[in-house]
Amino acid sequence: MSRYPMDGTFELTLRCNLRCKMCMFRREDSQAMEELTAAQWIDLADQVAKAGTMSLLITGGEPLFRKDFTEIYAGIYPKGFLLALYTNATLVTDRVMETLRAMPPHRIGVTLYGTCNEDYKNICGLSDGFDRAMEGIEKLRTLPSALELRFTPTCDTIEKIEELDKRIYDRFGIHPILSARVFKAVRGGCMQPETCRPSPRQTVDITWKQTEARLRNLIPEEFKKYVKLEISDRCEYTEQTQTLLGCGAGMKSFTVTYDGKLLGCQLLDTFQTDALQEGFLPAWERFPETVQLPPHPCGDCEYLQNCTLCPAVAMAETGSFTGVPSYICEITKLTEKRKEEFR
Ligand code: SF4
Ligand code: SF4
Repeated sequence: MSRYPMDGTFELTLRCNLRCKMCMFRREDSQAMEELTAAQWIDLADQVAKAGTMSLLITGGEPLFRKDFTEIYAGIYPKGFLLALYTNATLVTDRVMETLRAMPPHRIGVTLYGTCNEDYKNICGLSDGFDRAMEGIEKLRTLPSALELRFTPTCDTIEKIEELDKRIYDRFGIHPILSARVFKAVRGGCMQPETCRPSPRQTVDITWKQTEARLRNLIPEEFKKYVKLEISDRCEYTEQTQTLLGCGAGMKSFTVTYDGKLLGCQLLDTFQTDALQEGFLPAWERFPETVQLPPHPCGDCEYLQNCTLCPAVAMAETGSFTGVPSYICEITKLTEKRKEEFR
C-alpha cells in the first residue's frame, strides 16, 4: 500500500475561550485534559518534517488559547512546512502578532459565528466576541499570509448570511466561505445539533443560493447572455486508488491530537496509534492495521457518487459505521434535485 504523510494537522488543544453551540470538538472536560507540552509539539514537528510532511495545519479547539502558543509556533516554524493556522481571531494579542509578523504562516483561516456581539453572546457565550473577532482580523490582515474567512451558520444566524457577507466584504474585501454543514459532536464533544443546526433544506437552500450567486458574479456581464451555467458533479478522486477511510485520510493526511494520538481524520478517533509513545513514523506506519470497517449499506444507492457520507460522518451522526444518517441523506437528495432543476 502506497502511503505518504504529506498533509498534517496538529490539534494543539481542545480548549477554547468560546462555547459555540455547534462546535464538534470542545468537550466539557476540555479544561482538565492533559495536553502535549511545547517541547513535545516541537519534537513531533521535527519527526513529522523528517518523515516528509509538506503542509501543516495548526488548529484546536482554539490554538491561541494556549499560553505557550507563541513558543510552540516559533519552534515549529523553522522546520519549513507550508503552515496554516485556524483561529477564531478573538485572542490576537500583540505577542501573537509579533510572532506571526516575524514568521508569517502561508494561510490563516478565521471562522465567524455571527454578524454582531449579540450573536456571539447567544451562540458562543462571549458578549464582545464580534468586536474582538473584527479587531483580530484587522491585525491578521496586515500579515502577508493568505486570509480565509469562513462562516458557520446556525438556526439563529442562517437568515443573516447576506448581511454578514456584505459587512465582511465591505470591511475586508473578502467574501466569507460558507461552511454550512454541521455534524454531530465527535470524539466525546458536547455539542447538541438539535439546538442549533439548520435543517437539511435550509442548508441546501442557502448553500445553493450562494454558489449560484458567486458563479454568476464570476462571469462578466457582457458574456452572460452567451453562457449557460452548468453545475457539474463533484470531482472524483481518481488518483487515490487505495484508501483506508474512502478518502485521503490516513493515506496522505493525518492528525496528531492534543495528547499525541495519531488519527487519519480529526473527526474520527476509533482508529488510532500513538505518535507520542511510538514516535511519529512508527505510528504512521502502523496506522492501517488499526482500521477495520464493515461494509456499508449505502453500496447500492443511486446517489452514492455524489454523497458526502464517509465513515467519520456515519459514526458522528449515527454512532455506527453502518448507520445511514438522515441529515446527510436528505442534503444529498435535495442537492441532486437542485442540480437537475438548474440544468
Ligand atoms: S471527514 Fe470523512 S471524508 Fe473527511 S477526512 Fe474524515 S473520513 Fe475523510
Ligand atoms: S447517505 Fe443516503 S444519499 Fe448518501 S449514499 Fe447513503 S442512502 Fe445514498
